[in-house]
Amino acid sequence: MQNTLTTGRTTPELAAEPQATKPIASSECCRFCATPLRHTFVDLGMSPLCESYVSAENLSKVEHFYPLHVHVCEECFLVQLPVFVSAEEIFTEYAYFSSYSDSWLKHASEYVDMITTRLGLDSTSLAVELASNDGYLLKNFVKKGIPCLGIEPAVNVARVASEQGVPTLVKFFGQETAEELIAQGKKADLVIGNNVLAQVPDLNDFVAGIKLLLKPRGVATLEFPHLVRLMQENQYDTIYHEHFSYFSFITVEKIFAAHDLVLFDVEELPTHGGSLRIYARHVEDHSRPITQRAMNLHTSEMEAGLHLMQTYSSFDEKVKESKRSLLEFLINARRQGKRVAGYGAPGKGNTLLNYCGIRTDFLDYTVDRNPYKQGKFLPGTHIPIFAPGKIFETKPDYVLILPWNFKEEIVNQMHKIREWGGKFVVPIPTAKVIS
Ligand SMILES: [Zn+2]
Repeated sequence: MQNTLTTGRTTPELAAEPQATKPIASSECCRFCATPLRHTFVDLGMSPLCESYVSAENLSKVEHFYPLHVHVCEECFLVQLPVFVSAEEIFTEYAYFSSYSDSWLKHASEYVDMITTRLGLDSTSLAVELASNDGYLLKNFVKKGIPCLGIEPAVNVARVASEQGVPTLVKFFGQETAEELIAQGKKADLVIGNNVLAQVPDLNDFVAGIKLLLKPRGVATLEFPHLVRLMQENQYDTIYHEHFSYFSFITVEKIFAAHDLVLFDVEELPTHGGSLRIYARHVEDHSRPITQRAMNLHTSEMEAGLHLMQTYSSFDEKVKESKRSLLEFLINARRQGKRVAGYGAPGKGNTLLNYCGIRTDFLDYTVDRNPYKQGKFLPGTHIPIFAPGKIFETKPDYVLILPWNFKEEIVNQMHKIREWGGKFVVPIPTAKVIS
């Protein structure tokens, strides 16, 4: 695994065929139930990996584009992208440090307070977090004197966690890792997986690992973006190569049931455009009855037709219409001589701009607070990224907010654009001027 650190993000066999139009999928069958994938959920065309920002000296070099063609399984309704780039390449050295986001830190500490009380965790318990990043969450257990262990494949972020006193194992999680832990006498009262399930290439191995690792009365909680919100709000820009799966509650129920785990509770959270936090236990553990809110969500997804193929088949057209509305806005603004800048350089912005074909012809530049991105260019579209101060220098008429999930925070931070009549625009569900 170490050598993937130096090989970059592109495998040699993919590099040989960057223009291929037929998906070069490692598997064209459902990653949960192995049914051949025949139905398109949405086809966003070809796109570069969303985190591969381009430096000035590489602007005229070849960039690799991969299909963003999402399928839905007719049998289990798992919405999924084939794996084009291995998880090892994406996640072994990962640029995303969870501790950079204040609101996410608060979310984590509130969760730890809640779950400690709910499960009655103490100094005899063990909490294990899968994809524990830089220890931002587990450090709250350390403070409470509750034993914990992080499992994190990215060497650089795992190192930060260990240095801060959060025990961390540098590994991918699955049955093999679970068995190694069990051999060391470690079983978990609580298994946590936040924003990792979507990024797991072998779902069955991952969930089977959770089943093994949990004590008989153990509980697993996992958070992931909710497919229903993605569909309702046209959040197609949350689709990128690093996210292999997109889950409804009823499909996750099926996946866990296949491994003798029951989802006995669920919460709907506002994070990442609308997420679910599921609670799983062994099927044999009757001490925790299925809650009303779990039953309600199951019922509401059935009523919304998430078990029917026709519910999924209309999404592709909705996305096309959203693209048209954004382009219509930009074309009109440009024809009127207005200047438009972007705010943010998130992964979702890269999906959106590549899919819509928006380059510097529509968007002069974007800005981002992350110094790592400043001075670079967005992958594919080559829109330059500056520090946020650029907006106050150039005074654009419109600021297009790419990380719309933080729009309130950004509108507050940048409210001074109103002094010259500047307005904010969000791109989804359909393009809209918000002030
Ligand atoms: Zn399936």
